[in-house]
Amino acid sequence: MLQKDIEKILITENQIRDRVKTIGENISKDYADKELVLVSILRGGLIFLADLLRAITIPVTIDFMAISSYGGYAESSGVVQLIKDLGEPVLGKNVLLVEDIIDTGLTLNYLMQSLKAKQPLTLEVCTLLDKSVRRIVDLDLAYKGFDVPDLFVVGYGLDFNQKYRNLPFIGVLREDVIQR
Ligand code: 5GP
Repeated sequence: MLQKDIEKILITENQIRDRVKTIGENISKDYADKELVLVSILRGGLIFLADLLRAITIPVTIDFMAISSYGGYAESSGVVQLIKDLGEPVLGKNVLLVEDIIDTGLTLNYLMQSLKAKQPLTLEVCTLLDKSVRRIVDLDLAYKGFDVPDLFVVGYGLDFNQKYRNLPFIGVLREDVIQR
């Protein structure tokens, strides 16, 4: 069982569902009559995107980028390699970057630069989790799910060594599991 490796649940499945619904409603209002593209970052952002997409009631398209970052969680370097770029141009479109978690902000900063170069009409960020205490780069977040403390969290798409993504809640791993 995956759940035995969890020290505590920070955000429950119900809390996530309610918050995602509200964010979806807000996005639907803000982008009514606009051409909206949700850009998700593989692989962590997958589950949030899937739920958020279904909470949005206006026409919307999706696209994906995949990156690999050098350095472990503790020393996010901001040195990011683009493994997969967008499938279609976003020139003149309204892009909403959908992220799982923003920590130092270095990864997002890189992604924003890369997307800005494609000349979208607008570019905003929607993140499920915000670990703002660790922020290095100042970023403007248009939509945010939850603030989280400076703890390593897993579940709802977020992994540890590629596992725990399928947990339906956001939880904190037991210290001995991280050390193992
Ligand atoms: P940043 O560049 O903002 O420091 O790092 C962002 C990336 O680090 C996230 O997209 C995620 O992949 C990873 N990350 C940061 N904090 C956590 C965390 O608490 N749990 C997990 N699973 N990944 C995290």
